Amino acid sequence: MIWYPYEQLKTMKKPIKVIDAEGVYLYTKDKKLIDSVSSWWSVIYGYKNKELNEAIKNQVDNFSHIMLGGLTHEPVEKLSNKLKEFLPGDLDYPFFSDSGSVAVEVALKMALQFYVNQGINDRTMILSLTNSYHGDTFKTMEVGDDEDYHFVLNAYGESPYVVHVPTETSLLEEAFEKYGYKLNSFIVEPLLQGAGGMRMYDISFLKRARELCDEYNVLLIFDEVATGFGKTGHRFVADVVLPDILVLGKALTAGYIGHATTVANKKVFDAFYDDDPNHAFMHGPTFMGNPLACSVSLKALEIFEINNYMDKVKHIEEVEREEMEGFSDDRIEEIRIMGNVCCIEVKDSKTLNGYQDFAYERGIFARPFIKYIYSMVPYVIEYDELTKVLGTMKEWFAN
Ligand SMILES: *Cc1c(COP(=O)(O)O)cnc(C)c1O
Repeated sequence: MIWYPYEQLKTMKKPIKVIDAEGVYLYTKDKKLIDSVSSWWSVIYGYKNKELNEAIKNQVDNFSHIMLGGLTHEPVEKLSNKLKEFLPGDLDYPFFSDSGSVAVEVALKMALQFYVNQGINDRTMILSLTNSYHGDTFKTMEVGDDEDYHFVLNAYGESPYVVHVPTETSLLEEAFEKYGYKLNSFIVEPLLQGAGGMRMYDISFLKRARELCDEYNVLLIFDEVATGFGKTGHRFVADVVLPDILVLGKALTAGYIGHATTVANKKVFDAFYDDDPNHAFMHGPTFMGNPLACSVSLKALEIFEINNYMDKVKHIEEVEREEMEGFSDDRIEEIRIMGNVCCIEVKDSKTLNGYQDFAYERGIFARPFIKYIYSMVPYVIEYDELTKVLGTMKEWFAN
């Protein structure tokens, strides 16, 4: 029996079996479904994308994998150069890994060692946001704040190493006053907290965070595993407020294959780059810099630039705002829109019982969770398809 994610296997609904996928559509034996969540927010250019398929196929014919331990190859070199030019500021030093969670672990370990390498051993704490999600591995669960996912960690009691703060500037200032000189880093999902409930907050919070991090010499980490590549309406939130470490995953490979990167700026990199072997970063996932992943990622970056996807995201956001304008229901707590994300939060999670089947009947794959119905559509979605997704969300409340 297969372990499916986040499920009580004994009572779970039978998963939908997909036999083909193209563009925004998933195909089952007898149905065609719009994937309204882009396979966990990753397949932004659609399934079976010709250019991406070609990029990965060409690389298979060359070689599928070569480790980075003592070896290197063109796809990883090219991707690294491309990221250097694509990413803002001096975020020029990518460390590759196989998943978003691992890339966040790498960022946290890097931030700790940044201080240790300078002989500072008491910067052991991390500040993060309430309702944050940074992955499902142990340290990412610890910095995360989500009872629904990570209650197992309660067995350890409260962590002495992590402090959580809500997205309110005055509380952030208090937290820095209290813990500032013990912190090595402040990690955030910038502007949009995804798995924690599609919560959105203002850029002014991040601007103040940048100032406080500078004042207290704390590294600012942006976990843009979810928000990267246009989801918030910015290419990266890092374009607006520059972090010291940027983590990318999910759409990095356009959803073709698991890969992620932790990109450090020069200040962070320089704390490792010297003659002392003990200052080396001791980490090395087997599949880091995988050539298939790098090839498809390189092509995905080209597609993003050439086809002006930021305009498409802006257009998606406009349609979302039009469609949700004036829409309300007593059962709804709030409707939130940002970039390609549209989320309806309800007051009572029971309101959503049956929604997935309701959407399925109407030709849409949706994955509501807890108190949220949301869409995070592929950028290649057509107007009619998008209004169908949003219309179905509204129609549910006419029930
Ligand atoms: C999905 C996600 C991760 C974890 O990525 P995986 O590839 O699933 O390990 C980390 N941070 C954020 C913000 C995410 O949305």
